[in-house]
Amino acid sequence: MADVSAECNIKVLCRFRPLNQSEIIRGDKFIPSFQADDTVSIAGKSYVFDRVFPTNTTQEQVYNTCAKQIVKDVLGGYNGTIFAYGQTSSGKTHTMEGKLHDPHGMGIIPRIAEDIFNHIFAMDENLEFHIKVLTKTNLAVHEDKHRVPYVKGCTERFVSCPEEVMDVIDEGKANRHVAVTNMNEHSSRSHSIFLINIKQEHVETEQKLCGKLYLVDLAGSEKVSKTGAEGAVLEEAKNINKSLSSLGNVISALAEGNKTHVPYRDSKMTRILQDSLGGNCRTTMFICCSPSSYNDQETKSTLMFGQRAK
Ligand code: ADP
Ligand code: MG
Repeated sequence: MADVSAECNIKVLCRFRPLNQSEIIRGDKFIPSFQADDTVSIAGKSYVFDRVFPTNTTQEQVYNTCAKQIVKDVLGGYNGTIFAYGQTSSGKTHTMEGKLHDPHGMGIIPRIAEDIFNHIFAMDENLEFHIKVLTKTNLAVHEDKHRVPYVKGCTERFVSCPEEVMDVIDEGKANRHVAVTNMNEHSSRSHSIFLINIKQEHVETEQKLCGKLYLVDLAGSEKVSKTGAEGAVLEEAKNINKSLSSLGNVISALAEGNKTHVPYRDSKMTRILQDSLGGNCRTTMFICCSPSSYNDQETKSTLMFGQRAK
């Protein structure tokens, strides 16, 4: 597959997972039809993205097509963000993390970890690297006295090999807060952020270069009504829906080339990501979808969300 990540700075990619066992047993229909490599149709309506990945796309194909170039860019001093958006069980975590210790099943984050160190080992010996990774679930954003936002209560560590990156991911997963809802007992009602920060310095010239990459597994985008949530869980769900719509507004303003009215300050998420979205930054959004007729309304609204960024 050709690399689509090079030329424009906001990419929207759509990925459909296969029907799962319980959907097949229930007799759900497989609703998407795929045309060319950038179009999917549902009920006669077509949606065009930078790329559409049908259900049989491998983790390696996804990585090579969309994330590989971003690693080079971040090592070249650019910032970037890769998001996964979609309802619970649509394949966000599969895309971002996948099976961490399985060479075929690994998702984007472990592949990035391996790729970064492969590049570094092949680079100029006079370059000294400091690589820091940070994981955070349940965003709590604070501002320092200069009003610079920072995230409180996260795991942050310097790493020197891909295995140490995986350890931080494993720890982050263990800490992940999961609230039970009717939609899916594993429904993750929080955003999960992974940051890779790379600083390099030339030992002789002391020339410095910094790049950072945010990898964001967003909370499920499903409508609150379908989850049957109440009380504190309902409040949390409303906050999540608000932060997702703020993110949509920011991405759509950036996609329109609007430089003066990008509403970064409307949500914690967009304040944190501000210096890694838009401008020279590499921004990629995965729109993750279920192929089942049972989820057709959520799938359409997910596809519409992705279209706003185009
Ligand atoms: P989400 O994070 O959006 O809630 P998951 O990534 O956990 O969803 O995916 C739900 C289930 O579907 C998991 O068991 C996952 O392994 C499986 N799955 C998701 N995407 C794919 C895919 N492209 N191919 C095969 N299985 C997938
Ligand atoms: Mg998930």
